Formats: sequence, structure tokens, C-alpha cells
Amino acid sequence: MPTETMLDGHATLTHLTNHMNMKSLIEKIDALLPQTQCGECSYGGCLPYAKAMAEQNETINRCPPGGVKTLIALAELLNRDASVYIEEMMQKERLPQVAFIRPDECIGCTKCIQACPVDAIIGGAKQLHIVLTNECTGCGLCVTPCPVDCIDMLSLEKIQYQPAIARQRFQHRQTRLETEKQQENSSIPQLSAAELARKAYIESAVKRAKAKKEQQI
Ligand code: SF4
Ligand code: SF4
Ligand code: SF4
Repeated sequence: MPTETMLDGHATLTHLTNHMNMKSLIEKIDALLPQTQCGECSYGGCLPYAKAMAEQNETINRCPPGGVKTLIALAELLNRDASVYIEEMMQKERLPQVAFIRPDECIGCTKCIQACPVDAIIGGAKQLHIVLTNECTGCGLCVTPCPVDCIDMLSLEKIQYQPAIARQRFQHRQTRLETEKQQENSSIPQLSAAELARKAYIESAVKRAKAKKEQQI
């Protein structure tokens, strides 16, 4: 008859095996996702959606950038029925995209950098910002925050970014944001003189850009 210690050991081992199986399943699901990191699935990126499919039986039809191809791959892996979602997915899927910043209009506010989930935009405060086209996943998350509306999304025949690299860049960014958040929580929030100056600069640059656009109408 097993002793209590043996039972505890067995339970721990079973728990560990389940954990390993779940981790491996999440990785397999994540490998099928396009790593656009757009959040259109209503999760905060591809990995959180992969976790939800593995752990909470989330539906497989929530990734428009992946389209029908990803839908079928997920159905095969998870032994689900893709046929009920094919028509809907054909309506939702779209061509890959890449962001382009119109150089004459960028005021260098850095808001697009803050929104980009894979750090695919470079530029400093008050300087022209540029999209690294080979890193841009076409998620479109930089468009809305731009106060002067100078970012266009251009359609592509095929993706230019590498999903494995996009996954890494997304994970690095998540780690960095988490560290920054912990640091913020442990110190009294206070805007520095440089931040206040940057805020004032952005406000006046946005005003100028709006006035210029109104004159052109
Ligand atoms: S590509 Fe977008 S919609 Fe698809 S799983 Fe990733 S974050 Fe979700
Ligand atoms: S540059 Fe814009 S569209 Fe491209 S990945 Fe970053 S946020 Fe998404
Ligand atoms: S959000 Fe728009 S204006 Fe601001 S830096 Fe990015 S592209 Fe330039």
C-alpha cells in the first residue's frame, strides 16, 4: 500500500506532467499563430490567445490575420471542427500590411513607438519616426494613437516580417514593460522637466498640424 509520502510524490509528478503537457500544447498552438500581435482576437497578443485555447477551450476562429490557413491548422491540432467557421473567416481575412509614416507630417511625438507591440518603429522625441518594414507585422496599432494621422497601412502580397522574430520582440517588450511597471509602482510618480517640456511640445505641434490641415481644406 502506498504511504502518504509516496502519494504526495505521485500527485506532484502527475501535476508536473500535466503542466509540461499544457506548456508544450500552448507552444504548439502559438507556433501556428502569425505573431502579428494585433489583439484582434481580443487577447493581448498571440501567446495569451494560445493559452486561452489550450486552457479554457477558447474558439479557434478569432485570428483574422491568420485567416483560413491558421484556422484549419488549429482545428487539426486541437481536434476541432473548422468547417463551421470557414465562411466567416473568408470574410474576415485580409492581405498582410505594413505601416508607412508620411515623413513631412510626423511631429516626433513618440506615441506610435509606445503603441507598437514588436518595437518596429524608431525615432526620438521631436524627430521623424521610421517604420522598420522588415519588423513591422502590420498590426495597425500605431495608427489610432498618432495625433496628426500621418501613418498609412499599405497592403502587401506576402508578409515581410519573420514570425519567430516578432514573437521574440513581443516577449522582450512585455518583459520590459513589466519591469518599468514595477519600477513605477515602487517610486512616487512625478513628471520630470523633460517630460513636461515634451508634453508641451506635442500639444503645440498637434495644434500647428491641425491648423495647417484646416488651412488646406
Ligand atoms: S495575430 Fe492578432 S488576432 Fe491572431 S492570435 Fe495574434 S494577436 Fe490574436
Ligand atoms: S509599426 Fe505599426 S503596424 Fe507595424 S508592427 Fe508596429 S504598431 Fe504594428
Ligand atoms: S505618432 Fe505620428 S506624429 Fe507621433 S511620432 Fe509617430 S508617426 Fe510621428
